[in-house]
Amino acid sequence: MPENASTISVLFAAAEADPFAKVGGLGDVAGALPVALQKLSEQAGRPRLDVRVVIPFHPVIRNKGFTPELVAEVLVSSISGDQKAQIYTQTINNVPVYLIDGEPVQKISPVYSSNNAVDAEKYVFFCQAALQMLLKLNWIPDVINANDWHTAPMIYALSLLKKGSASHPLKKVHTVFTIHNLPFMGAGAEKWMAHYHLPPAETQQIPRWGVHHPLPLGILTADKIVTVSPTYAQEIMTPAFGCGLEKFLQSRQQDVKGILNGLDEELWNPQTDTHIAQPFSAATISTRQKNKTELLKEFNLDPDPQRPLLILISRMDQQKGVDLAVKAARLIADEDWQMILLGTGDPTLEEDCRQLEKEYPDRVRAAIRFDASLSRRMYAGGDMLLMPSRYEPCGLAQMISMRYGCVPVARATGGLKDSIHQTLTMQHGTGFLFKPATESALARALRKALQIYQNPQLWQQIQLNGMAVNFSWATPALEYANLYQQLLKERNE
Ligand code: ADP
Repeated sequence: MPENASTISVLFAAAEADPFAKVGGLGDVAGALPVALQKLSEQAGRPRLDVRVVIPFHPVIRNKGFTPELVAEVLVSSISGDQKAQIYTQTINNVPVYLIDGEPVQKISPVYSSNNAVDAEKYVFFCQAALQMLLKLNWIPDVINANDWHTAPMIYALSLLKKGSASHPLKKVHTVFTIHNLPFMGAGAEKWMAHYHLPPAETQQIPRWGVHHPLPLGILTADKIVTVSPTYAQEIMTPAFGCGLEKFLQSRQQDVKGILNGLDEELWNPQTDTHIAQPFSAATISTRQKNKTELLKEFNLDPDPQRPLLILISRMDQQKGVDLAVKAARLIADEDWQMILLGTGDPTLEEDCRQLEKEYPDRVRAAIRFDASLSRRMYAGGDMLLMPSRYEPCGLAQMISMRYGCVPVARATGGLKDSIHQTLTMQHGTGFLFKPATESALARALRKALQIYQNPQLWQQIQLNGMAVNFSWATPALEYANLYQQLLKERNE
């Protein structure tokens, strides 16, 4: 038990955490949420939170110049003998971060390779080492919050330890598992699960194939399951989004909660953004137009600011509905607009975008690359962001877009539905939503947006509504803190 009974201690486990390692959205979450949780402790009347993060000491972290302190060494048992793991630590933004090193971590250089079977050696080793670390440091948290398949084995391994010994020192550790993207289950990890003594689960609660994969095992054995938006929490209980786990998730309905991610409002601030031609705020929104003119010039498009500028900033992936955006553009070719698409990924989708540029050389540009600075200039200069995702657990681009006065036109799914507000007259709206995942539904939504764009006063109101939304991490942090508190109360009753 913690020294102070009103302290809740949490180990937040992830594959990546900003600023040490950031490849995708999880890095943002693991960087920002623990800091926001720690800040809650400053609020009177709330339990103190002792939140610590654990990630692998990826080679890329050392290459970035981080020099955390070595605090312990532990042994990880495998079928071919014990392996050493070194525990380092560095405190950033008031949050202690543990970095776990060892041969399997060193062996696999990128945070994620494209092969789960390869990555699993690093991650299963990491999960087992993290549990050993808690014992060695004698820091027994109240809660372990793991994230996605890479850290799911930590929850599964803990459940096996508890089952094996009623007096295990970790027996009082409760678990939360956050799903950021359900389809990534860690298939291919079986060999390394077995190598580090994690046999398939003997259960019929999840489908047969699931007993071999980390993510279903994490879901199976976690006390609480979180998804990164309330709508996605509902969606994953249906066959269309549940990836075969919907029945099990339905059976755990009481334990599933959706908490919408926040946005780093300092990192994404149009007032202080040094990448954009004209920084602006809601009070100076009329100056925003300079960003649009500069962007149009940069792409050799017509610099007339009256013509609506549609943008798309996305991984080129089936999930993101880039194909729908390309087809919808053709369907609304009779309207007046210009478009810039930024993204990289699936070569077929990249080619679709290039093809659209070829068809409409006077008004479409395809920038097929990853370009963070350009993305900022686009958010600051675009009028509408297209986000026709087939599924979207949370989504960041629509939040950034609103904050930068660019109005999202998005599919009503997952976090898009939860963060974008459409109203009848749009006086209080922040964006446009459409339901079916078809190009014609997107085209209809775009026509509506283009029509409202003709009313500059109303359009500006929508922009200001979006800019006024509070996406700070303080809100989700409070929800996570309440969840931890509820979990401890339930289990200790
Ligand atoms: P996901 O994490 O599923 O890719 P999100 O909307 O949650 O989708 O986050 C995507 C993030 O990546 C956003 O910040 C977006 O601006 C950024 N992004 C996506 N593609 C590019 C690109 N080609 N260049 C720069 N930034 C990009």
